[in-house]
Amino acid sequence: MRDRFNRNITYLRLSVTDLCNLRCVYCMPETGVHKKKHSDILSVEEIEEMARACVACGVKKIRVTGGEPLVRRGIEDICARLSAIDGVEELCMTTNGILLPKYAQKLKKAGVLRLNISLDTLNAEKYRAISRVGTLKDALNGIEAAKQAGFSDLKLNVVLMGGINDDEIRDFVRFAGEQSIEVRFIELMPIGECRTFDKKRFIESKKVLEATPELIEKCTEGVARIYSIPDSKGQVGLISPMSTHFCPGCNRIRITGDGKLKPCLHSSEEISLRGLHGEALKETIGDAMRNKPQRHHLDAKTPSESLRTMNAIGG
Ligand code: SAM
Ligand code: SF4
Repeated sequence: MRDRFNRNITYLRLSVTDLCNLRCVYCMPETGVHKKKHSDILSVEEIEEMARACVACGVKKIRVTGGEPLVRRGIEDICARLSAIDGVEELCMTTNGILLPKYAQKLKKAGVLRLNISLDTLNAEKYRAISRVGTLKDALNGIEAAKQAGFSDLKLNVVLMGGINDDEIRDFVRFAGEQSIEVRFIELMPIGECRTFDKKRFIESKKVLEATPELIEKCTEGVARIYSIPDSKGQVGLISPMSTHFCPGCNRIRITGDGKLKPCLHSSEEISLRGLHGEALKETIGDAMRNKPQRHHLDAKTPSESLRTMNAIGG
């Protein structure tokens, strides 16, 4: 379905929980979040019904996210239901990877086509400092488990933070080359927990090109500019929501774990889908798609208008 600005909305980011087994400093409060009542979180049936309605409105790609999607009980059943929907061409997931040794094969069997794994540092002490509770070894084991399960085109999501991990750009590029995977550097966005971060944490993705001038520009894929790494099968992707706002090409909508449709990540607008069925559900989703805001107005001094923290949206 095309919106008022002729953007074709084909991509749904679907959050299945706001809970997480990590507490990344830029995403989640240190104390975690209050566990919602079971009835406040979408049931498996509601998730499937909403996804089907989105597909009827033109969605072709679904990314399952969270919080951490792998802490949601029955995640493999949710994925199997989503991948079986007629019209879903790509089912993907973004995960911190910690639970992949347990779930990678099950996800493959459930029809998940691709995984993005978030990893902001290759240094064990920094990993603990950023995630507050996690262990680098567990995240690396998760990457290995994904490869073993046959997820060959893995992507690593690295949120770039000035003074925290920008000294590791070359290490990540080397890692991507060695592992024949894609590393995606994402500009930190002032939303939720990091709205009040020092300005020096918000750095532009062009810093990656300054640190690795040997990269060769290849193409644009969705919101990412892709570069190849010489003499390897690895790739680098730059995702620059701050320095090059990509709203004119945005094809996404989001549904939160409690059933709110967000037409734009950075707007406070949320449309409740719970309790709607059949044509009423499709009409509400279609209206929200058509009326998707034109753009966000974020910069390091103007934080997101979204009232949620990132774990409660899904990235
Ligand atoms: N728990 C999963 C994970 O970390 O991959 C999925 C949910 S997480 C909210 C999705 C993505 O959003 C992660 O790659 C995370 O690094 C990214 N993210 C969270 N807060 C962000 C921010 N303020 N700016 C840019 N990316 C952010
Ligand atoms: Fe959890 Fe992902 Fe947020 Fe980190 S970025 S706290 S892993 S939801």
